[in-house]
Amino acid sequence: MSKSPIRSVKGTQDILPDQSTRWQDLELTIQKIMDCYGYKEIRTPAFEHSEVFSQGVGEETDIVSKEMYSWTDQGGDNLTLKPELTAPVARSFIQHNLGVQNSINKLYYIDALFRRERPQKGRYRQFHQFGIEVFGSENPETDVEVIALAMHVFHKLGLKELTLQLNSIGSPECRNNYRNAIKNFLAPHFDQLSQTSQDRYNNNPLRILDTKSPDEKEILKDAPNISNYWTIDDKNHFDEVCNLLKHIKIDYQLSPSLVRGLDYYTRTTFEITSNELGAQNAICGGGRYDGLVEKLGGKPTPGIGFAAGIERLLLASSSDNKIRNIQIYIVGIGNDVRPTMINLAEELRSNDIRTSFDYLRRSIKAQMREANKLGAQYAIIIGEDELKDKSVIIKDLSTSNQEKITLDLVQKYMKSLPL
Ligand code: ATP
Ligand code: MG
Repeated sequence: MSKSPIRSVKGTQDILPDQSTRWQDLELTIQKIMDCYGYKEIRTPAFEHSEVFSQGVGEETDIVSKEMYSWTDQGGDNLTLKPELTAPVARSFIQHNLGVQNSINKLYYIDALFRRERPQKGRYRQFHQFGIEVFGSENPETDVEVIALAMHVFHKLGLKELTLQLNSIGSPECRNNYRNAIKNFLAPHFDQLSQTSQDRYNNNPLRILDTKSPDEKEILKDAPNISNYWTIDDKNHFDEVCNLLKHIKIDYQLSPSLVRGLDYYTRTTFEITSNELGAQNAICGGGRYDGLVEKLGGKPTPGIGFAAGIERLLLASSSDNKIRNIQIYIVGIGNDVRPTMINLAEELRSNDIRTSFDYLRRSIKAQMREANKLGAQYAIIIGEDELKDKSVIIKDLSTSNQEKITLDLVQKYMKSLPL
C-alpha cells in the first residue's frame, strides 16, 4: 500500500507560481515607496533568544503568553521563531549602535512571522508582514509620516474603503492614572467580566478595552476616556498629529478604546482596517513606543512604527498574477542539435531575453505546442539542416511568419525584434 504524501503544516501556505508574481509585485511596490521616503531595509534572523519577546513584547500579551513557537535547543538556549518584528529590530538597533551612527534611523522590513493561532481566512501560523520602525524622533511629524507612508502603500496597491483609527495612550504617567481609573470603574462590574478580562484586570486592565464581547462593550460604554488623563504635553502632541494629518488630507476616526496593551507603547496608536475584508479586517497596526529601546537595555530612544499583514493586503487588493512568460522557445530536432540549443539559450539569456527550450526530446509538433503553451513570442527551430549550415529558423508565433538566418546573426536579429 502506498503511503499518503506528507502535507504542509496546518496554518502554513505554499505560495505557488500562480500567485507568486503578485507577491513579487507587492514587494517591489513597497521597496520603491520605501526608497522615496528614505527608509532602509533591515533583515533580522528567523529566531531570537526568547527574552527578546518576553521583555520586548511583554509576558501578558497574547503573542507571548499563547502564540509563540519556542523551544530549548541542544545547547540549552531558549529560542523563539519571531512572532513580530519590532522587538528584534530594536534588539538589532541597540546591538549595532545604530543610534550612535545616525540620530534618526528609518528602517523597514518584509518578513515571515510565526504565531500559533487558530487558522482561518486572513489568519495563519506562518504569515508575512511589511513594516517600518523609526528611531530617534518623538516629534509629531514623524508619527504623521509613518501613517502617511502606510496609506501611500495601500493606495498604491489599489485598496479602497480604508479606515484609519487613531488614538493616543499618552505618557507612562498618564497611563498609570488611566489604568487606575479603569480599574476603579470596572471594580463594581468585576463579576460580570469574562475569565480573560478578569485576568487582564490584574495584569493589564487596559487590554479589557480590546474586548470583542458585546456584554463587556456595553459595560465599557461609560468607561473613562483616556483623553481626560493626558498630560498637557500628551495633548499637545496628539493635537499636532491630528492637525498635520488634516493638513495632508488624511482622514481619521478618533478611537479612544484603541489601546495597544503593551507596556512600551506611548502616545500615538493607530490601526488601519479595510472594509473589503471580512472578520479579519485589520491590515495594519502601529504606534509609538518611546520606552522600548530602554526596556531592552539601550539608551532611551523614542521610536514609532507599524506592521501590515501581507496576506490580508493581497486578499483586499485585486492585483493580477502577471506571469512573465518566456519570450523565446528553442525547438530542436534530433539529439545532435542539443549543444547548439543550450549554447544559444545561454547567449540569449545573457542578453536578458527570457528563453527556454525542449528538455524532453519530443517531436517537433509537441515542442511547438509547448512553445505556445508557455506564451513564447518566437520559436527558434534548429534541425539537422540548420546544424549543417550554421543557421536557424525564427518563427513569429503570433503570425506564423518564419525566416532563416545564420546562427551568428541571431543575437543581433533578436535585438531588432519587439520583445
Ligand atoms: P489581530 O487583532 O488581527 O490578531 P494583531 O493585533 O495580532 O492583529 P499585529 O500584531 O498588530 O496584529 O500585526 C499587524 C498586522 O499583521 C495585522 O493588522 C494583520 O494584518 C497581520 N496579522 C497579524 N496576525 C496575523 C496572522 N496570524 N495571520 C495573518 N496576518 C496577521
Ligand atoms: Mg493577534
